[in-house]
Amino acid sequence: MYLQQSQAEMLQLIEKLVNIDSGTYVKEGIDRVGAILKKEYEKLGFTVEVREEEKYGNNLIIQHKDAFDPKIILVAHMDTVFPLGTAAERPFRIEGDRAYGPGVVDMKSSQVELLYAIKALQQSGSESYKNMLIILNSDEEVGSPTSRPLIEEKSQGKEYALIMEPARKDGSLVSARRGGGSYTVIVKGKAAHSGIEPQKGRSAIEELAHKVIQLNALSDYEKGISVNVGLIEGGSSINTIPPIAIAHVDIRISEMHQAKYLEEKIKEICATTDVSGTQIILKGSISRPPMEKNKQTVSLLHLIEEVGKEIGLQVFDTATGGGSDASFTSATGVATVDGLGPVGGNAHSEDEYLEIKTLPERTLLLAKTIDRLSK
Ligand SMILES: [Zn+2]
Repeated sequence: MYLQQSQAEMLQLIEKLVNIDSGTYVKEGIDRVGAILKKEYEKLGFTVEVREEEKYGNNLIIQHKDAFDPKIILVAHMDTVFPLGTAAERPFRIEGDRAYGPGVVDMKSSQVELLYAIKALQQSGSESYKNMLIILNSDEEVGSPTSRPLIEEKSQGKEYALIMEPARKDGSLVSARRGGGSYTVIVKGKAAHSGIEPQKGRSAIEELAHKVIQLNALSDYEKGISVNVGLIEGGSSINTIPPIAIAHVDIRISEMHQAKYLEEKIKEICATTDVSGTQIILKGSISRPPMEKNKQTVSLLHLIEEVGKEIGLQVFDTATGGGSDASFTSATGVATVDGLGPVGGNAHSEDEYLEIKTLPERTLLLAKTIDRLSK
């Protein structure tokens, strides 16, 4: 397969996409990015179904017009974390071996890589591009509220999921991500003057203090469980028995079964009070499943490693704490590997960069992986 010579062309398209603001809340920009990509896919013989969204950008479902029951799902998000005006402030630029700009590696380069992987397959005479179902979604950076059900639905019956988040700085693919959620614990007590008749009050802060210790004690770092009361608020004045106290709790898990266990434990802790006369209201849930490095993922990784060897690219993998759409495909039981985009770093910051030379090699890795998975 060719590719080195397409690098300049790929960079041109990346520049065009980076210079359109497509923050999650910039619907118009995401839809413009979607329209450009739609045209590119149509040139390659693909059909693009546009799922219109009101608040967020439209989601796109793409497959070749001759595709028959594809077994590989690929997911690449079009939104970034940057607000309107960022692209004008610091547009796409190249310095040395790196390219910069909002969303350059997370993940506008991945969008272009995916397109060129299909081109490479078509030019090599392989028909494995008919084995792909692609979702370009609009809202990953805020937890995929509109695209999550779509991703879960389209994952049904698939054998493999390739998620196009960028590779890590050191080039690693991503084989595990932690899941999680958040809770709010609201304690209601009873106010009373702390000097005149404190015995008539019921301290919400005292009650919450008990709960904070019990909740944090659920953490088990070895098992990858973290329960962190990260924010507390409460009381009304220094000389009032506090009538209200609130805790905000962040939960992280590494394995699916931990969600149920923790949900039960948290409910249990908040079902009783240590300070009589107080009342607890619990809100929240563990909403994001973890991406587990299970058997399917390991064998998919092995296959990608082999493909890497063929093209002289050493492939590693790693676990990360942050979430992505990989959690959703993985939770439906599909063998999932993430981080298949080009290499770069400092995502979500002004210093976000793409390692330009990894564009052709990662495109080739993706194309050959798709080809191998289709045999
Ligand atoms: Zn991303």
